[in-house]
Amino acid sequence: MTGHGHVFARGSGLPRVARASGCEVWDSDGRRYLDGAGGAIVVGIGHGVASVADAIREQAARVAYAHATAFTSDALEAYAAELAAVVPVDGARVYPVSGGAEAIETALKMARAYHLARGEDRHRVIARWGSYHGNTRGALDASGRESLRRPYLPWLGQASHTLAAYEYRCPFAGTHPAGCGARYAEALEREILAAGPGTVAAFVAEPVAGAALGAAVPPDDYWPAVADVCRRHGVLLVADEVMTGFGRTGRWFACDHWGVRPDILALAKSAASGYWPLGLAVAAGEVHDTIGGAGFTHGLTYSHHVVGAAAGREVLRVLRERRLVEAAETQGKRLRAGLEARLGGHPAAGDVRGLGLLVAVELVADRASRAPFPRERRVAEQVVAAARDRGLLLYWSTGCADGGDGDLVMLGPPLVVTDAEVDEMVDLTVAAVEEVVPA
Ligand code: PMP
Repeated sequence: MTGHGHVFARGSGLPRVARASGCEVWDSDGRRYLDGAGGAIVVGIGHGVASVADAIREQAARVAYAHATAFTSDALEAYAAELAAVVPVDGARVYPVSGGAEAIETALKMARAYHLARGEDRHRVIARWGSYHGNTRGALDASGRESLRRPYLPWLGQASHTLAAYEYRCPFAGTHPAGCGARYAEALEREILAAGPGTVAAFVAEPVAGAALGAAVPPDDYWPAVADVCRRHGVLLVADEVMTGFGRTGRWFACDHWGVRPDILALAKSAASGYWPLGLAVAAGEVHDTIGGAGFTHGLTYSHHVVGAAAGREVLRVLRERRLVEAAETQGKRLRAGLEARLGGHPAAGDVRGLGLLVAVELVADRASRAPFPRERRVAEQVVAAARDRGLLLYWSTGCADGGDGDLVMLGPPLVVTDAEVDEMVDLTVAAVEEVVPA
Protein backbone atom coordinates (compact mmCIF):
# COMPACT_ATOMS: atom_id res chain seq x y z
CA MET A 1 0.00 0.00 0.00
CA THR A 2 1.45 3.36 -0.94
CA GLY A 3 0.68 6.87 0.24
CA HIS A 4 -2.06 9.09 -1.19
CA GLY A 5 -4.55 11.64 -0.01
CA HIS A 6 -3.89 14.70 2.06
CA VAL A 7 -0.20 14.41 2.92
CA PHE A 8 2.07 17.07 1.37
CA ALA A 9 4.51 14.28 0.69
CA ARG A 10 8.24 14.34 -0.07
CA GLY A 11 8.03 11.53 -2.61
CA SER A 12 5.46 9.79 -4.76
CA GLY A 13 4.40 6.17 -4.56
CA LEU A 14 6.12 5.80 -1.20
CA PRO A 15 5.63 2.50 0.60
CA ARG A 16 4.15 2.63 4.10
CA VAL A 17 6.54 1.83 6.88
CA ALA A 18 5.14 -0.75 9.28
CA ARG A 19 7.84 -1.65 11.80
CA ALA A 20 11.57 -1.66 12.37
CA SER A 21 14.16 -3.38 14.52
CA GLY A 22 17.93 -3.00 14.71
CA CYS A 23 19.07 -2.29 11.15
CA GLU A 24 15.92 -3.61 9.48
CA VAL A 25 12.74 -1.87 8.35
CA TRP A 26 9.57 -3.55 7.00
CA ASP A 27 6.83 -1.96 4.92
CA SER A 28 3.11 -2.71 5.08
CA ASP A 29 3.46 -5.28 2.27
CA GLY A 30 5.94 -7.22 4.39
CA ARG A 31 9.00 -6.18 2.38
CA ARG A 32 12.23 -6.05 4.34
CA TYR A 33 14.82 -3.29 3.86
CA LEU A 34 18.28 -3.18 5.34
CA ASP A 35 18.69 0.34 6.70
CA GLY A 36 22.10 1.32 5.39
CA ALA A 37 21.59 4.94 6.30
CA GLY A 38 19.61 4.99 9.54
CA GLY A 39 17.06 7.10 7.65
CA ALA A 40 18.99 10.33 7.08
CA ILE A 41 21.90 9.10 9.23
CA VAL A 42 19.73 9.53 12.30
CA VAL A 43 19.22 6.16 13.97
CA GLY A 44 22.38 5.51 15.99
CA ILE A 45 21.25 2.98 18.59
CA GLY A 46 19.11 0.99 16.15
CA HIS A 47 15.39 0.75 15.58
CA GLY A 48 12.94 -0.71 18.08
CA VAL A 49 14.84 -0.25 21.34
CA ALA A 50 12.15 -0.90 23.95
CA SER A 51 13.87 0.94 26.79
CA VAL A 52 13.70 4.23 24.86
CA ALA A 53 10.01 3.70 24.14
CA ASP A 54 9.54 2.95 27.86
CA ALA A 55 11.42 6.09 28.94
CA ILE A 56 9.25 8.19 26.62
CA ARG A 57 6.03 6.55 27.79
CA GLU A 58 6.93 6.88 31.47
CA GLN A 59 7.89 10.53 31.20
CA ALA A 60 4.89 11.45 29.05
CA ALA A 61 2.56 9.78 31.54
CA ARG A 62 4.06 11.69 34.50
CA VAL A 63 4.43 15.08 32.82
CA ALA A 64 4.92 15.58 29.09
CA TYR A 65 5.08 19.33 28.74
CA ALA A 66 6.06 22.28 30.86
CA HIS A 67 7.11 25.63 29.48
CA ALA A 68 10.83 26.28 29.74
CA THR A 69 10.36 29.72 31.30
CA ALA A 70 8.25 28.22 34.11
CA PHE A 71 9.92 24.91 35.02
CA THR A 72 13.00 22.80 34.75
CA SER A 73 12.69 19.04 35.30
CA ASP A 74 14.53 16.07 36.76
CA ALA A 75 14.81 14.56 33.28
CA LEU A 76 16.37 17.69 31.81
CA GLU A 77 18.75 18.38 34.69
CA ALA A 78 20.00 14.78 34.68
CA TYR A 79 20.31 14.66 30.89
CA ALA A 80 22.22 17.95 30.68
CA ALA A 81 24.65 16.81 33.38
CA GLU A 82 25.32 13.50 31.60
CA LEU A 83 25.69 15.20 28.24
CA ALA A 84 28.03 17.85 29.64
CA ALA A 85 30.37 15.05 30.71
CA VAL A 86 30.83 13.75 27.16
CA VAL A 87 30.64 16.80 24.85
CA PRO A 88 33.91 18.49 23.78
CA VAL A 89 32.77 21.80 25.25
CA ASP A 90 34.22 23.48 28.35
CA GLY A 91 31.64 24.08 31.07
CA ALA A 92 28.84 22.97 28.75
CA ARG A 93 25.38 24.54 28.99
CA VAL A 94 22.75 22.62 27.06
CA TYR A 95 19.85 24.32 25.20
CA PRO A 96 17.57 21.57 23.85
CA VAL A 97 15.50 22.22 20.72
CA SER A 98 13.63 20.08 18.17
CA GLY A 99 16.14 19.37 15.42
CA GLY A 100 19.32 20.26 13.60
CA ALA A 101 18.22 23.47 11.92
CA GLU A 102 16.87 24.80 15.22
CA ALA A 103 20.13 23.88 16.92
CA ILE A 104 22.04 25.88 14.29
CA GLU A 105 19.68 28.87 14.50
CA THR A 106 20.07 28.82 18.27
CA ALA A 107 23.86 28.49 18.06
CA LEU A 108 24.15 31.44 15.66
CA LYS A 109 21.96 33.60 17.90
CA MET A 110 24.08 32.60 20.89
CA ALA A 111 27.19 33.77 19.03
CA ARG A 112 25.58 37.12 18.22
CA ALA A 113 24.27 37.51 21.79
CA TYR A 114 27.73 36.74 23.20
CA HIS A 115 29.38 39.51 21.18
CA LEU A 116 26.60 42.01 21.91
CA ALA A 117 26.98 41.31 25.63
CA ARG A 118 30.67 42.17 25.29
CA GLY A 119 29.82 45.42 23.54
CA GLU A 120 30.81 44.23 20.05
CA ASP A 121 28.32 44.54 17.21
CA ARG A 122 29.51 41.39 15.44
CA HIS A 123 26.89 39.85 13.19
CA ARG A 124 28.55 38.15 10.23
CA VAL A 125 28.60 34.39 9.91
CA ILE A 126 31.23 32.61 7.86
CA ALA A 127 30.46 29.06 6.76
CA ARG A 128 31.85 26.79 4.06
CA TRP A 129 30.86 25.85 0.53
CA GLY A 130 30.03 22.16 0.38
CA SER A 131 28.24 22.26 3.73
CA TYR A 132 24.77 21.63 5.03
CA HIS A 133 23.37 23.19 8.19
CA GLY A 134 19.59 22.96 7.70
CA ASN A 135 16.72 24.37 5.69
CA THR A 136 15.40 27.19 7.89
CA ARG A 137 16.47 30.57 6.57
CA GLY A 138 19.44 31.28 8.83
CA ALA A 139 20.72 27.72 8.60
CA LEU A 140 20.18 27.65 4.83
CA ASP A 141 22.06 30.94 4.51
CA ALA A 142 25.02 29.28 6.23
CA SER A 143 24.66 26.13 4.14
CA GLY A 144 26.85 25.83 1.08
CA ARG A 145 24.66 23.60 -1.06
CA GLU A 146 23.71 25.54 -4.12
CA SER A 147 20.78 23.39 -5.23
CA LEU A 148 19.00 23.96 -1.91
CA ARG A 149 19.83 27.68 -1.82
CA ARG A 150 18.87 28.55 -5.40
CA PRO A 151 15.07 29.03 -5.06
CA TYR A 152 15.51 31.13 -1.93
CA LEU A 153 18.51 33.26 -2.89
CA PRO A 154 16.62 36.58 -2.56
CA TRP A 155 16.18 35.73 1.14
CA LEU A 156 19.81 34.81 1.69
CA GLY A 157 23.13 36.61 1.65
CA GLN A 158 23.98 37.49 5.24
CA ALA A 159 26.49 34.66 5.56
CA SER A 160 29.63 34.28 3.47
CA HIS A 161 31.54 31.15 2.57
CA THR A 162 35.06 29.82 2.52
CA LEU A 163 36.49 26.52 1.30
CA ALA A 164 35.57 23.24 2.95
CA ALA A 165 38.32 20.67 3.42
CA TYR A 166 37.70 18.35 0.48
CA GLU A 167 40.89 16.47 -0.17
CA TYR A 168 39.61 14.39 -3.10
CA ARG A 169 39.20 17.65 -5.01
CA CYS A 170 41.81 19.69 -3.20
CA PRO A 171 42.06 23.22 -4.62
CA PHE A 172 45.75 23.44 -3.70
CA ALA A 173 46.80 21.18 -6.56
CA GLY A 174 50.38 22.42 -6.68
CA THR A 175 51.19 21.69 -3.04
CA HIS A 176 48.64 19.05 -1.97
CA PRO A 177 48.85 17.12 0.32
CA ALA A 178 51.57 18.96 2.25
CA GLY A 179 50.18 21.60 4.57
CA CYS A 180 46.63 21.74 3.15
CA GLY A 181 45.30 22.58 6.62
CA ALA A 182 47.33 25.78 6.71
CA ARG A 183 46.11 26.73 3.24
CA TYR A 184 42.43 26.25 4.19
CA ALA A 185 43.07 28.29 7.36
CA GLU A 186 44.60 31.10 5.28
CA ALA A 187 41.51 31.08 3.08
CA LEU A 188 39.33 31.44 6.18
CA GLU A 189 41.48 34.27 7.47
CA ARG A 190 41.20 36.08 4.11
CA GLU A 191 37.40 35.77 4.35
CA ILE A 192 37.42 37.19 7.89
CA LEU A 193 39.61 40.10 6.81
CA ALA A 194 37.42 40.75 3.75
CA ALA A 195 34.29 40.81 5.89
CA GLY A 196 35.94 43.13 8.41
CA PRO A 197 37.41 41.27 11.39
CA GLY A 198 35.41 43.19 14.00
CA THR A 199 32.15 42.21 12.27
CA VAL A 200 32.50 38.40 12.21
CA ALA A 201 30.56 36.67 14.99
CA ALA A 202 31.06 33.00 14.14
CA PHE A 203 32.59 30.43 11.85
CA VAL A 204 30.33 27.40 11.48
CA ALA A 205 31.52 24.10 10.03
CA GLU A 206 31.01 20.35 10.17
CA PRO A 207 34.15 18.71 11.63
CA VAL A 208 33.73 15.94 9.06
CA ALA A 209 31.68 17.04 6.07
CA GLY A 210 28.28 15.38 6.02
CA ALA A 211 25.73 15.23 3.24
CA ALA A 212 27.10 17.94 0.96
CA LEU A 213 30.60 16.50 0.47
CA GLY A 214 29.98 12.93 1.58
CA ALA A 215 32.02 12.15 4.69
CA ALA A 216 35.00 14.22 3.53
CA VAL A 217 37.56 13.95 6.33
CA PRO A 218 39.90 16.94 6.74
CA PRO A 219 43.67 16.50 6.92
CA ASP A 220 44.97 16.34 10.49
CA ASP A 221 46.41 19.86 10.31
CA TYR A 222 43.06 21.42 9.33
CA TRP A 223 41.27 21.83 12.65
CA PRO A 224 44.17 23.11 14.77
CA ALA A 225 44.95 25.75 12.12
CA VAL A 226 41.33 26.81 11.64
CA ALA A 227 40.61 26.97 15.39
CA ASP A 228 43.69 29.17 15.79
CA VAL A 229 42.48 31.63 13.13
CA CYS A 230 39.09 31.89 14.87
CA ARG A 231 40.72 32.49 18.25
CA ARG A 232 43.06 35.17 16.91
CA HIS A 233 40.16 37.11 15.42
CA GLY A 234 37.73 36.67 18.31
CA VAL A 235 35.41 34.64 16.07
CA LEU A 236 33.39 31.97 17.88
CA LEU A 237 33.79 28.45 16.53
CA VAL A 238 30.46 26.70 16.02
CA ALA A 239 30.88 22.98 15.32
CA ASP A 240 27.93 21.40 13.53
CA GLU A 241 27.89 17.79 14.70
CA VAL A 242 24.25 17.21 13.82
CA MET A 243 25.30 14.25 11.66
CA THR A 244 28.61 13.27 13.27
CA GLY A 245 27.68 13.41 16.97
CA PHE A 246 26.99 10.59 19.40
CA GLY A 247 29.49 8.04 18.17
CA ARG A 248 28.87 8.14 14.43
CA THR A 249 32.55 8.62 13.50
CA GLY A 250 33.95 6.19 16.08
CA ARG A 251 34.47 8.82 18.79
CA TRP A 252 31.75 10.39 20.91
CA PHE A 253 32.05 13.51 18.75
CA ALA A 254 34.03 14.11 15.56
CA CYS A 255 35.76 17.07 17.27
CA ASP A 256 37.41 14.48 19.53
CA HIS A 257 39.53 13.15 16.64
CA TRP A 258 41.48 16.42 16.63
CA GLY A 259 40.97 17.72 20.16
CA VAL A 260 38.79 20.59 18.89
CA ARG A 261 36.92 22.49 21.64
CA PRO A 262 34.20 24.57 19.93
CA ASP A 263 32.60 27.56 21.64
CA ILE A 264 29.19 26.25 20.61
CA LEU A 265 28.23 22.76 19.45
CA ALA A 266 25.11 21.92 17.42
CA LEU A 267 23.68 18.41 17.77
CA ALA A 268 20.55 16.51 16.66
CA LYS A 269 19.85 13.31 14.70
CA SER A 270 21.47 10.54 16.82
CA ALA A 271 20.91 12.58 20.02
CA ALA A 272 17.59 10.79 20.39
CA SER A 273 18.22 8.42 17.48
CA GLY A 274 14.91 9.25 15.78
CA TYR A 275 12.77 8.30 18.78
CA TRP A 276 12.10 11.99 19.47
CA PRO A 277 12.77 15.13 17.41
CA LEU A 278 15.64 16.37 19.57
CA GLY A 279 18.34 18.91 18.77
CA LEU A 280 20.79 20.62 21.11
CA ALA A 281 22.79 23.83 21.06
CA VAL A 282 25.56 23.43 23.61
CA ALA A 283 27.33 26.62 24.70
CA ALA A 284 30.65 26.78 26.48
CA GLY A 285 30.33 28.04 30.05
CA GLU A 286 32.00 31.31 29.11
CA VAL A 287 29.54 31.92 26.28
CA HIS A 288 26.60 31.15 28.56
CA ASP A 289 27.87 33.32 31.39
CA THR A 290 28.71 36.25 29.10
CA ILE A 291 25.23 36.19 27.54
CA GLY A 292 23.82 36.04 31.03
CA GLY A 293 21.96 32.73 30.77
CA ALA A 294 18.27 33.47 31.05
CA GLY A 295 18.82 36.89 29.48
CA PHE A 296 19.26 35.26 26.04
CA THR A 297 16.66 36.72 23.64
CA HIS A 298 15.35 33.55 22.02
CA GLY A 299 12.74 30.88 22.68
CA LEU A 300 10.81 28.04 21.07
CA THR A 301 7.65 26.50 22.44
CA TYR A 302 9.11 23.00 22.36
CA SER A 303 12.59 23.79 23.64
CA HIS A 304 13.79 22.05 26.83
CA HIS A 305 11.19 19.35 26.26
CA VAL A 306 10.79 17.02 29.23
CA VAL A 307 10.06 13.93 27.13
CA GLY A 308 12.89 14.78 24.72
CA ALA A 309 15.30 14.91 27.65
CA ALA A 310 14.10 11.52 28.90
CA ALA A 311 14.57 10.05 25.41
CA GLY A 312 18.02 11.60 24.96
CA ARG A 313 19.13 10.37 28.36
CA GLU A 314 18.12 6.79 27.64
CA VAL A 315 19.88 6.95 24.25
CA LEU A 316 23.09 8.01 26.05
CA ARG A 317 22.71 5.07 28.40
CA VAL A 318 22.24 2.62 25.53
CA LEU A 319 25.25 4.04 23.65
CA ARG A 320 27.37 3.40 26.75
CA GLU A 321 25.93 0.05 27.77
CA ARG A 322 26.26 -1.46 24.31
CA ARG A 323 29.65 0.19 23.67
CA LEU A 324 28.33 1.59 20.41
CA VAL A 325 30.94 4.32 19.99
CA GLU A 326 33.61 1.61 19.88
CA ALA A 327 31.38 -0.47 17.59
CA ALA A 328 31.15 2.44 15.14
CA GLU A 329 34.92 2.45 14.79
CA THR A 330 35.20 -1.31 14.31
CA GLN A 331 32.24 -1.74 11.97
CA GLY A 332 33.17 1.41 10.07
CA LYS A 333 36.55 -0.12 9.24
CA ARG A 334 34.86 -3.30 8.06
CA LEU A 335 32.42 -1.35 5.89
CA ARG A 336 35.08 0.84 4.32
CA ALA A 337 37.45 -2.07 3.76
CA GLY A 338 34.65 -4.08 2.13
CA LEU A 339 33.68 -1.27 -0.21
CA GLU A 340 37.29 -0.45 -1.06
CA ALA A 341 38.06 -4.09 -1.84
CA ARG A 342 34.99 -4.61 -3.99
CA LEU A 343 34.84 -1.21 -5.71
CA GLY A 344 38.59 -0.59 -5.93
CA GLY A 345 38.67 -1.68 -9.55
CA HIS A 346 35.36 -0.17 -10.61
CA PRO A 347 35.79 2.70 -13.07
CA ALA A 348 33.05 4.82 -11.50
CA ALA A 349 34.17 4.49 -7.88
CA GLY A 350 36.23 7.64 -7.61
CA ASP A 351 36.66 7.64 -3.86
CA VAL A 352 35.57 5.53 -0.91
CA ARG A 353 35.97 7.62 2.22
CA GLY A 354 34.73 8.34 5.70
CA LEU A 355 35.32 7.93 9.38
CA GLY A 356 33.64 5.37 11.60
CA LEU A 357 30.18 4.51 10.33
CA LEU A 358 29.91 7.60 8.14
CA VAL A 359 31.02 6.35 4.75
CA ALA A 360 30.56 7.64 1.20
CA VAL A 361 31.32 6.53 -2.31
CA GLU A 362 31.87 9.35 -4.78
CA LEU A 363 30.89 8.18 -8.24
CA VAL A 364 32.74 9.68 -11.20
CA ALA A 365 32.63 9.43 -14.99
CA ASP A 366 36.41 9.16 -15.18
CA ARG A 367 38.62 8.00 -12.35
CA ALA A 368 41.84 9.40 -13.74
CA SER A 369 40.59 12.96 -14.21
CA ARG A 370 37.97 12.69 -11.42
CA ALA A 371 35.45 14.19 -13.84
CA PRO A 372 31.92 13.91 -12.46
CA PHE A 373 28.95 12.51 -14.33
CA PRO A 374 26.71 15.15 -15.86
CA ARG A 375 23.80 15.81 -13.52
CA GLU A 376 21.27 14.79 -16.19
CA ARG A 377 22.39 11.18 -15.84
CA ARG A 378 21.10 11.11 -12.25
CA VAL A 379 23.63 8.47 -11.28
CA ALA A 380 23.25 8.83 -7.50
CA GLU A 381 19.45 8.64 -7.69
CA GLN A 382 19.67 5.55 -9.91
CA VAL A 383 22.10 3.77 -7.57
CA VAL A 384 19.83 4.53 -4.61
CA ALA A 385 16.83 3.16 -6.55
CA ALA A 386 18.75 0.04 -7.61
CA ALA A 387 19.83 -0.56 -4.00
CA ARG A 388 16.28 -0.08 -2.78
CA ASP A 389 15.02 -2.62 -5.34
CA ARG A 390 17.47 -5.05 -3.73
CA GLY A 391 16.29 -4.15 -0.24
CA LEU A 392 18.99 -1.71 0.85
CA LEU A 393 18.27 1.88 1.92
CA LEU A 394 21.08 4.34 1.12
CA TYR A 395 21.52 8.10 1.62
CA TRP A 396 22.71 10.25 -1.26
CA SER A 397 23.51 13.71 -2.43
CA THR A 398 24.56 15.59 -5.52
CA GLY A 399 26.61 18.64 -6.40
CA CYS A 400 29.79 17.77 -4.51
CA ALA A 401 32.10 18.31 -7.51
CA ASP A 402 31.09 21.83 -8.52
CA GLY A 403 27.77 22.69 -6.89
CA GLY A 404 25.82 21.09 -9.75
CA ASP A 405 27.50 17.86 -10.83
CA GLY A 406 28.85 15.26 -8.44
CA ASP A 407 27.23 12.02 -7.23
CA LEU A 408 27.51 10.58 -3.74
CA VAL A 409 25.97 7.56 -2.12
CA MET A 410 26.36 7.37 1.63
CA LEU A 411 26.11 4.71 4.27
CA GLY A 412 25.51 5.51 7.91
CA PRO A 413 23.78 2.48 9.38
CA PRO A 414 22.72 2.17 13.01
CA LEU A 415 25.81 1.54 15.16
CA VAL A 416 24.41 -1.86 16.17
CA VAL A 417 25.02 -3.18 12.63
CA THR A 418 26.35 -6.76 12.68
CA ASP A 419 29.24 -8.18 10.65
CA ALA A 420 26.78 -10.07 8.44
CA GLU A 421 24.72 -6.92 7.88
CA VAL A 422 27.83 -4.90 7.00
CA ASP A 423 28.77 -7.55 4.45
CA GLU A 424 25.25 -7.59 3.02
CA MET A 425 25.34 -3.77 2.73
CA VAL A 426 28.62 -4.01 0.83
CA ASP A 427 27.23 -6.69 -1.52
CA LEU A 428 24.06 -4.75 -2.26
CA THR A 429 25.84 -1.40 -2.71
CA VAL A 430 28.31 -2.94 -5.15
CA ALA A 431 25.51 -4.69 -7.06
CA ALA A 432 23.59 -1.41 -7.32
CA VAL A 433 26.64 0.52 -8.58
CA GLU A 434 27.43 -2.23 -11.11
CA GLU A 435 23.88 -2.23 -12.42
CA VAL A 436 23.80 1.55 -12.98
CA VAL A 437 27.37 1.93 -14.24
CA PRO A 438 28.53 -1.42 -15.67
CA ALA A 439 32.30 -1.88 -15.30
N1 PMP B 1 23.48 20.09 10.10
C1 PMP B 1 23.91 18.95 9.55
C2 PMP B 1 25.38 18.66 9.53
C3 PMP B 1 22.99 18.04 9.02
O1 PMP B 1 23.44 16.90 8.47
C4 PMP B 1 21.62 18.35 9.06
C5 PMP B 1 20.57 17.40 8.51
N2 PMP B 1 20.96 16.60 7.47
C6 PMP B 1 21.22 19.56 9.64
C7 PMP B 1 22.17 20.41 10.16
C8 PMP B 1 19.77 19.95 9.74
O2 PMP B 1 19.11 19.12 10.63
P1 PMP B 1 17.52 18.98 10.59
O3 PMP B 1 17.18 18.31 9.31
O4 PMP B 1 17.21 18.16 11.83
O5 PMP B 1 16.96 20.36 10.70
